[in-house]
Amino acid sequence: MKIIYPGSFDPPTRGHMDIIARAAAMFDEVVVAVMMNEEKMGCFDPAARRDWLLSLVRELPNVTVVEEKGLLMDLAVSVGASAILRGLRDAADYAVERPVADAFRAIAGVETLFMQSSPEHGFVSSRMVRELLKFRGPVADLIPPKIVKDVVTLYAQRREGV
Ligand code: ADP
Repeated sequence: MKIIYPGSFDPPTRGHMDIIARAAAMFDEVVVAVMMNEEKMGCFDPAARRDWLLSLVRELPNVTVVEEKGLLMDLAVSVGASAILRGLRDAADYAVERPVADAFRAIAGVETLFMQSSPEHGFVSSRMVRELLKFRGPVADLIPPKIVKDVVTLYAQRREGV
């Protein structure tokens, strides 16, 4: 079974990687989709997010990374995914995700599967990382070690307008 795991990954966190690694062990193929939304300009360039994810999944042979500007439901169909995978941290995530999943199934016949976050990552979010970066706070425990330096450097360059 092929599954598609979409998100902003702005930036990727240890919570995302936990879901990707567990999904890779469970499904034949995992397509990680960096979704771009022109109305919601991210903090980090989509190409940087994609490159970080590419380097993070290098050791997972059944995981690929794509960048997408269009509709998730079209992408799910075009890559031949049987379902969309979303991570759930808490009831607030579920409240947001449930109507979206219902809509995908009603409109496009695309199923959504949910994977619960591991307890140690339940509080981790890209938003929290961005908040910490803004105040030069400690982010090393929230981001995969491989990309910490890059994320901090790129954020600093962005702030200084380099
Ligand atoms: P989006 O903007 O689409 O919510 P995110 O990059 O914030 O994208 O998250 C992508 C997916 O990963 C979502 O399903 C989100 O719920 C899930 N996710 C985010 N953080 C965690 C975490 N700490 N543990 C498990 N799942 C997570």
